[in-house]
Amino acid sequence: MTSFYPGPSQPYPQVRGYLAEAYDSGILGQNHRSPAFVDLARQTVGLMKEKLAIPADYHVYFVSSATEVWEILAQSLAHRLGSLHLYNGEFGQKWAEHTQRLTGQARTAAFGLEEPLPVQAGGGPTLLCLTHNETSNATWLAPPVLLAQRAAWPGALVAADATSSLAGVDLPWAALDLVFASVQKCFGLPAGLAVLVASPRAVEAALTVGEQAHYNSLAHLHARALEGQTTHTPNVLGIFLLNRVLAQVPPIAQVAAQTHARARAWEEFLAGHGFRLLVGQASLRSPTVLAVQGSPAWVSRLKSAALDQGLLLGNGYGRWRADTFRIANFPALGEAQIAQLQDFLAKFGSE
Ligand SMILES: *Cc1c(COP(=O)(O)O)cnc(C)c1O
Repeated sequence: MTSFYPGPSQPYPQVRGYLAEAYDSGILGQNHRSPAFVDLARQTVGLMKEKLAIPADYHVYFVSSATEVWEILAQSLAHRLGSLHLYNGEFGQKWAEHTQRLTGQARTAAFGLEEPLPVQAGGGPTLLCLTHNETSNATWLAPPVLLAQRAAWPGALVAADATSSLAGVDLPWAALDLVFASVQKCFGLPAGLAVLVASPRAVEAALTVGEQAHYNSLAHLHARALEGQTTHTPNVLGIFLLNRVLAQVPPIAQVAAQTHARARAWEEFLAGHGFRLLVGQASLRSPTVLAVQGSPAWVSRLKSAALDQGLLLGNGYGRWRADTFRIANFPALGEAQIAQLQDFLAKFGSE
């Protein structure tokens, strides 16, 4: 069975061997303050910065989920700085709602599915919350719009939820202060671990705010990370698997070129066979997740026929649940698996 679900997604085939390797290495029984763990954590952060082309002065923290990061940013930064959430889909909206419940001062600017990000201008500090890849409707924020947002509000800390894009495409790091992702999407790993990347400016802001009331306060995460440690017993297995997958994958420029080429090929294939994408504007379409639209009855028939062939498609999400299905274009999927799905779709036919 092959999963084209955009999270949890098909893990890299090599993960099977890495699981056994983790067990045999003895790391799973090691204390998270032990030199063995500190070595693993430091090496993994180094590999992540190298393979994902993260600037040398940015910091990387291990946390449990992207949802947890929404809370970390709310309690450690937005509580004091306020936040402004720009979104066009379900994940961006949920992030805004979580933050509002925790801080009572989350402002929002929703925009339409076929509209570009409405760039916000301003001067003073705030936390700008952007969804880099909106997994619910298969839209993304291309580098130029992120750079434009940075230039329009240079005093803002820009946070980007890149859960379904980090490790699949390249990011314009200079435009971003806080980037996070859980690993069960583009990293091709099992769920239960997330990474949070912070710019020096973001760390400085967290230390100035000085919020220390939570075990996962940004200031605590940072202090522990300087020692190669975590605030709590982390997902050591997840970190081990992340280490091995990062060692295996090519540099992000190469991965991104493949992701974009495959996305173009998918779009041509779907258009050529009469399928209708949810998003009409090509420049707004995500390179890592595709959403195909149709009547609920047809979508449902197609998904179950695919499952009969051992192909798991992603359900639609939120307001797009019934009339779309989603296809992950994540790096862990192989050419043969993609060919198998395209073969199925060509035979099943468009609506
Ligand atoms: C999947 C996803 C999340 C939630 O990830 P968890 O690991 O379940 O917390 C958040 N944001 C986006 C954009 C996602 O795709």
